[in-house]
Amino acid sequence: MSETSQKEMTGEKMSVTSVSSANPTSAKAISESDIKALPSHDLIVVGGGPAGLAAAVAAFDAGITDVLILERDNELGGILNQCIHNGFGLHTFKEELTGPEYAERFEKLAEERDIPYQLNTMTLDIVPVDIAGTHAGCIVSAVSKTHGYQQFFAKAVILAMGCRERPRGALNIAGTRPAGVFSAGTAQRFVNLEGEMPGKKVFVLGSGDIGLIMARRMVLEGAEVLGVAEIMPFSGGLKRNIVQCLNDYDIPLFLSHTVVDIRGKERVEGITIAEVDDHMKPIPGTEKSFDVDTLLLSCGLLPENELSSKAGVQLSPATKGAVVDNTLQTSIPGVFACGNVLHVHDLVDYVSQEAKLAGECAAEYLEKGAGAAGASDTEGEARIVTVKPGNGVSYTVPSILHLNALAPTTIIRFRVRAVFKRAAIKVTLNGEELMSKKRPVMAPGEMEQVILAKEKIFSALENTNPQGSESVLEISIEQS
Ligand SMILES: Cc1cc2nc3c(=O)[nH]c(=O)nc-3n(C[C@H](O)[C@H](O)[C@H](O)COP(=O)(O)OP(=O)(O)OC[C@H]3O[C@@H](n4cnc5c(N)ncnc54)[C@H](O)[C@@H]3O)c2cc1C
Repeated sequence: MSETSQKEMTGEKMSVTSVSSANPTSAKAISESDIKALPSHDLIVVGGGPAGLAAAVAAFDAGITDVLILERDNELGGILNQCIHNGFGLHTFKEELTGPEYAERFEKLAEERDIPYQLNTMTLDIVPVDIAGTHAGCIVSAVSKTHGYQQFFAKAVILAMGCRERPRGALNIAGTRPAGVFSAGTAQRFVNLEGEMPGKKVFVLGSGDIGLIMARRMVLEGAEVLGVAEIMPFSGGLKRNIVQCLNDYDIPLFLSHTVVDIRGKERVEGITIAEVDDHMKPIPGTEKSFDVDTLLLSCGLLPENELSSKAGVQLSPATKGAVVDNTLQTSIPGVFACGNVLHVHDLVDYVSQEAKLAGECAAEYLEKGAGAAGASDTEGEARIVTVKPGNGVSYTVPSILHLNALAPTTIIRFRVRAVFKRAAIKVTLNGEELMSKKRPVMAPGEMEQVILAKEKIFSALENTNPQGSESVLEISIEQS
């Protein structure tokens, strides 16, 4: 794989940007000669983490060899580079790999195909452009120390920017503002990549996977971890992480608790937690204090969608990621999304699987012009099915099925709203049951999925809606 050297910007191209940024939420009309002046690629992948790498490899294997990956960090691999614990790749490689080992496998696949990439390159802007009233692609702007400001034209773009952690500012925790409050991911970077310990006596707020993994890591590195508080009555992380990271190390988990005070002037000296009621309000009299020098926050991840929203991509209020169809195409033609930027995943194997689909569908879009999805079918209308989260389900990805682009099987991923025991996942299409699957336990911390066969969807449509008007596929949880 080669790091590219890209051509210098011209004044003419600069003027294209200034026109584009005037109203970034709609496609801009631009002349063909303006576009021809820009370095052009069939496909630009934004983000070189596991999603970006798997998408680029899949697009290449599907025949699109003119691919460029833009990565803001100084190496490929994304967040996996700091996840030195094992537990990655059980589904994909049937092996327990560490994060860097898993990333390396995909870097190698990209290397074997000589897919170019640019490191230390921050993508700043993606602007959809029209030529003569027809969507042509996107102008992608980026900046790097080596190449300065750059603009590219891309016929298709895959968004693979991952996600970031919720900071203290987003959590409204009372108390002073001393040093010693870190997001769990920042602490993970300090410990695993920089070789620095953030503190010696630690408390963790939030039981997401990063917090659980960091509780264990801090113990292994010699710190004392006094507990993990979780505001919800259930953990936000995988069951296996509760067992392997907390129970195995006797770290107490305080469910339905939150941090109500942080003490200390220069450095954290202690924190207080309290139990919360059904409305998440601290219950007076339930406070417990801990003398610690460090508080790690693991209170949720947010997909990195500033670029997407600036580009005019429709975002889902539930996932904070793009609204996509079954080809993972967003509301902008030729712009696809996958991985944690689309919705937060707990297992990287599913990220790779989803990214492969995005790469293949982007390749199909490039080969077939306006692409399979969204284009008119033989009856002249693009027939769609809306996918709706029903009882107990907080969101689904995708949220639209384009019938003319339906693969032999469609995977719909979703999360449940609460813990369900001995319940069933029920899928209906226009009220007709497509499938029902029993599950012993479901929790919001673990992503669920259903796999639907194309024939089943079409046969249900034939039974329930032969005229082809609007159809609704609903996924709900039924307590038995
Ligand atoms: C602490 C932690 C522990 C985990 N543990 C496990 C585990 O045990 N097992 C498991 O299977 N999964 C685990 N995961 C999940 C897995 O690591 C993620 O699901 C996976 O890394 C997501 O891949 P991604 O490519 O979508 O995002 P990322 O890995 O975050 O990659 C996104 C990339 O995009 C780049 N980027 C962002 N914005 C821009 C921009 N504007 N311009 C250019 N580049 C940009 C970023 O620098 C980054 O390299 C864990 C995750 C975390 C955070």
